[in-house]
Amino acid sequence: MHWFATLFLVLMVVRWLVLNGLERLNVASVRAHASSVPEAFRDTIDAATYAKSVAYTLAKARMTAIELGWSMVVLVGVLYSGGLPAGWQAWTTWVGDGIWASAAGLFAAVTLLSLTGLPLDWWVQFRLEERFGFNTTTQATWWMDRLKGLVLGAGIGIPLLALLLGLVEWTGRWWWVWGWGVLVVFQLVMLVVAPVVILPLFNKFQPLPEGPLKDRLLALAARTGFRARAIEVMDGSRRSRHANAFFTGLGRFRKIVLFDTLMNQLSEAEIESVLAHEIGHFRLRHVPKLMAWSTLSTLAGFACLAWLAEQSWFYAAFGFATPAMPVAFLLFGLLSDVGTFWLTPLGNVLSRKFEYEADAFAATAVGDAAPGITGLRKLHEKNLANLTPHPWYSGFHYSHPTLVEREGALKAWAATQGRTA
Ligand SMILES: [Zn+2]
Repeated sequence: MHWFATLFLVLMVVRWLVLNGLERLNVASVRAHASSVPEAFRDTIDAATYAKSVAYTLAKARMTAIELGWSMVVLVGVLYSGGLPAGWQAWTTWVGDGIWASAAGLFAAVTLLSLTGLPLDWWVQFRLEERFGFNTTTQATWWMDRLKGLVLGAGIGIPLLALLLGLVEWTGRWWWVWGWGVLVVFQLVMLVVAPVVILPLFNKFQPLPEGPLKDRLLALAARTGFRARAIEVMDGSRRSRHANAFFTGLGRFRKIVLFDTLMNQLSEAEIESVLAHEIGHFRLRHVPKLMAWSTLSTLAGFACLAWLAEQSWFYAAFGFATPAMPVAFLLFGLLSDVGTFWLTPLGNVLSRKFEYEADAFAATAVGDAAPGITGLRKLHEKNLANLTPHPWYSGFHYSHPTLVEREGALKAWAATQGRTA
């Protein structure tokens, strides 16, 4: 085997070992606490619900182990069977090797690969989530979602890929700096366009329903300098009973989305505190800050791709006789996960820092940490969240701090205010 193909195989196995090892640690941690509700959660959750959350976490862990194994088998099959160069050869012979043909070929390859994960996705939604009472998606909605995603992906992805491949021809050796610029602009445009154009293709958005809750939330928005029109309720219950809220968009195009499931599960004070948390993400400029981080990693990615594209061994390792930029894009897309996965915990450290900041902002805005704490407890309970993750597991994978960590920070905030939460 070519040395680089061997090296990549080793890196892939290392990634698999790390992710599997983390899953096992997490499962062991959950099992170790499974027999009774841990002391810290006695007030939060009853024994039956706790037992259900343990079963849910373990069922998801089994599924993750299958997904990790299966995706590696597929990738090894694609990269080491000789099928990839043969398939690419067939495509260029059939469709051509121009910019648009190559862009469409890249999109087709990504789509075919993602199809291999489809049965597992289906199983998670209609067996696993169903078994724990979360699934509300119909078969029709689920398949329609996939179809819409495919059409959108093709409509946006193929022109974008064609533009990037075009830049290689038009701008010469610094194409990757131009490509990076294009991608940054694209991300900015998507941040503005997605909430307005794309999200409504999948869900219905409505203004806050009239009533005392609305008055309370509008008062909070006025107090914290948030445009009230940008607060909307989404029909999350169309797909799942999981509850959530998020902040999206940039500047004038900002939007806070509260799931209808969340509105049904929490008290008015708790909903106010969730909204205050999301407003915190806006006031503290978390979206532009995360954008800056992803922009820097994109630049590093482009530099890496540009360098690899000039190495003949990069192509030879996986059976491609001649270097070609579309092939470099294809290989880079398939290989980059073994590198970027090491960045996951770094991004999550930043994300968790922002969550603490937004929690503190919310407590200050509503003048009380208590609804933040009870709201978090309820959401963890209703979502059957894992209450006892292994610290390495949550440290690596969690974009949000654990319930214990967030409660601790909110209680510390309350203590500085001379109150107990
Ligand atoms: Zn948040």
